[in-house]
Amino acid sequence: MSLDDVLAKIDENLPEATERLLKLLRIPSISTDPAFKRDCDDAADWLVADLKTLGVDASKRMTTGHPMVVGHVDGDGPHLLFYGHYDVQPVDPLELWDRPPFEPQVEDTDKGQVIRGRGASDDKGQLMTFIEACRAWKAVHGSLPCKITFFFEGEEESGSPSLVPFMMENAKELTTDIALICDTGLFESAVPAITTMLRGLVAEEVIIKGPDRDLHSGMYGGIAMNPIRVLSKIITGLHDTTGRITLPGFYDGVPELSDEIRAQWQNLAFDHSAYLGDVGLSVPAGEQDRTPLEMIWSRPTCDVNGIWGGYAGDGFKTVLPAEAGAKISFRLVGTQDPDKIHDAFEAYVLSCLPEDYTAEFPLGKGSKAAQMAITDPMFEKARKALSDEWPRPASYIGCGGSIPIAGHFKDILGVDAMLIGFGKDDDQIHSPNEKYDMQSFHKGTRSWARILAALSA
Ligand SMILES: [Zn+2]
Repeated sequence: MSLDDVLAKIDENLPEATERLLKLLRIPSISTDPAFKRDCDDAADWLVADLKTLGVDASKRMTTGHPMVVGHVDGDGPHLLFYGHYDVQPVDPLELWDRPPFEPQVEDTDKGQVIRGRGASDDKGQLMTFIEACRAWKAVHGSLPCKITFFFEGEEESGSPSLVPFMMENAKELTTDIALICDTGLFESAVPAITTMLRGLVAEEVIIKGPDRDLHSGMYGGIAMNPIRVLSKIITGLHDTTGRITLPGFYDGVPELSDEIRAQWQNLAFDHSAYLGDVGLSVPAGEQDRTPLEMIWSRPTCDVNGIWGGYAGDGFKTVLPAEAGAKISFRLVGTQDPDKIHDAFEAYVLSCLPEDYTAEFPLGKGSKAAQMAITDPMFEKARKALSDEWPRPASYIGCGGSIPIAGHFKDILGVDAMLIGFGKDDDQIHSPNEKYDMQSFHKGTRSWARILAALSA
């Protein structure tokens, strides 16, 4: 018996696998809304029961929020952990859905069949690809190919408040050779990918305070320094004319790409004009000597996310405000140190203040970037296995955002994570009419079977 038998089993079982996914999708497990607490519980129970049919020692584990589902199955080979989440986003505005979000259905579209319903792509459909791969494996071989720990969360869409405490309390139980996380997508909806670089984040708020009250510009304009002017100067000084960030030491720990990754990214043929054109833009605004993909994935950034001060309502008010503020965030890469960047930012702001002016920094919270150890042979085995299933070879890619779970595996458990997902850009996750392509569900399941085979070999 071979991998081919498992793949054939997956093909044969697709109708039943789809029915099971539809059942899970009918449970309205919206984690942010307390009205659906019972449903979150039901989704956890459903998964525990389903895992038990695979011979997994599974249980629902209570937290102060929604429960975790943890299951173990013994086996040879490396010890894998698989993570997914069973909670979903709220569904409003309900009137924009073409069908009730929790009455999912397989639909024919001009791009092929899709499974429509809340959670179809994020993350129930993705989570079930792994379970279905295990089910086919078990049906063919009588057991699973590796030792596997299943770990499902029910609070991912509401900030995962119980996740870190749970991981810390159960660190020993959850520590494995590698973590597999299925909550991401294909690259540009076409190329399979393993996300191995996740940017970190430092979020700052700065409030510049000057005069002890709002002033009238007829009386104080010209003699009093306007806090908005101070703030604007601070913000414009954060970048130089080539797009580089000017904070001293900011680029400490920013690595250059390896030749291998550079080649893979060139192969992706990223169309930055389409990417920017999608939002009505055309010119990449990052460091001038960097490629657009580097700007998104492997270079650090600084952005002003909000700015306030003075009067911005209807009409006009000739005011010099007493204070002005901004929220400014930095995306980090490599081994950039969030604390050092916070300190450098604070020192820079203070150095820009005129006499009589003060600055407050109410936030300054940060998380490091995560860079997976792709030199571990398991990564290359998984990448080759993925490439065998899809028309184009798989790439290691970055992720412009942060996926906190991957950082937690690394920081709390010391476990590297492979982020492998089959979502597509047009899945409308978090929006009305969410869908998962039947092709993603089917080939995603087959991909996991191939990866399990490769990792256990
Ligand atoms: Zn998700």
